[in-house]
Amino acid sequence: VDYYLTNIERDKQLNAFVEVYAEEAKQRARELDKKIELKTAGPLVGLIFGLKDLICYKDHEVSGASHILKGFESQFSATAVERLLQQDAILIGRQNCDEFGMGSSNENSAHGPAKNPVDPARVPGGSSGGSAAAVAANMCHVALGTDTGGSVRQPAAFCGIYGLKPTYSRISRWGLLAYASSFDTIGIFSRSVEDNARILEAIAGRDEKDATSSSRQVAQYSNAQPHGTYRIAYFPELFDHNGLQPEIQEAYKNWVRELEKEGHSLVEESFPFAEYILPTYYILTTAEASTNLARYDGAHYGLRSGTSNDLEAMYKNSRTEGFGDEVRRRIMLGTFVLSADYYDAYFTQAQKLRRLIKEATEAILQKVDFIITPTTPTTAFEHKSHASPLAMYMADLFTVQASICGLPAISVPMGNDAKNLPIGMQIMGAAFEEEKLFAFSKIQQ
Ligand code: GLN
Repeated sequence: VDYYLTNIERDKQLNAFVEVYAEEAKQRARELDKKIELKTAGPLVGLIFGLKDLICYKDHEVSGASHILKGFESQFSATAVERLLQQDAILIGRQNCDEFGMGSSNENSAHGPAKNPVDPARVPGGSSGGSAAAVAANMCHVALGTDTGGSVRQPAAFCGIYGLKPTYSRISRWGLLAYASSFDTIGIFSRSVEDNARILEAIAGRDEKDATSSSRQVAQYSNAQPHGTYRIAYFPELFDHNGLQPEIQEAYKNWVRELEKEGHSLVEESFPFAEYILPTYYILTTAEASTNLARYDGAHYGLRSGTSNDLEAMYKNSRTEGFGDEVRRRIMLGTFVLSADYYDAYFTQAQKLRRLIKEATEAILQKVDFIITPTTPTTAFEHKSHASPLAMYMADLFTVQASICGLPAISVPMGNDAKNLPIGMQIMGAAFEEEKLFAFSKIQQ
């Protein structure tokens, strides 16, 4: 604990943590020392983890990096947090992120931007940027983030670590502040495949508090071992895709060649719905966000505007003062696509596309074990360089597919670009095949 607290203090300027539980973590470490002596310590004793400021921890503040939740304390812990604590892991603090998980750079945060430890002039990615920066800069072993459309995989790629988004429903969402409920997952940051697997094994599984959580048995992910060779689909169109940084094209090409040399079967695919993936994602998630965020009204949680003389004005002023620009933009977009006049033109169409994209992706995964892509079109970009929301949305080009389909995907580090910035590659698998995903990822370590 002392070691990590020292690192947190040393790299304070990265703004990775919103709150550090220094005294609490030390106290817990002392208690766990006693358990170790008595030989009653749990399997995760010694593991130090951090938590995205979008996941609840009992009697502690959680803000979703938003002014609207200022001062709000959660009355319960997320199931994932509870399970890690039960196994004697130590929680060291709450980490920076984009407001309510909306963003790809951690610049939309009420706590100010987090910075990339590899180059602090650049973003750590988002929305779980603080968690990725913290793990990469050795401020904790692992961190829990959330991934709705790439928010664990993209920052993992930008910071040079591993980031898993599990199958939708594999980890309980109880205690996770909702952004787009049919996409949201808790995800895991780590510096090794082994730690990632260990954490998933501890937190996955049925939870009575989340009706959507799957009751499928949890595999022994930590024992995952590669077996022979695999069948892998890739997209040759990405070898010279305009929107892709040349070094990422190169790394992807080399990886495909390397895998072929190792004896895996590489299968060429082209994705029929490529141009619809981002619009589908942004229509459906903004729609869900607009309803989920309706609960922040100044009456129930956090900030209440003091400048109102009637109830309606109190709602309006609290929301106006509390939400940042990106969140407001999405609430308006979501409200628009759900409105009576436009519902069929946008929301219904996007739902149909979601089904088509899912079926097409699953059809590929019936022929192969994995689909591989780069995790991101570029490496970490400079702060304030993506002023237009559309430029920012492009950062999710490769990650949203797994989210639309509810499939598991992991970002693994794979070399650096000419500026020495980390490159990440994504491996996507069939639903509930995380064990195989870990096994294959181990070959890439
Ligand atoms: N960047 C994407 C978005 O803004 C993904 C966010 C996420 O996964 N939470 O929606």
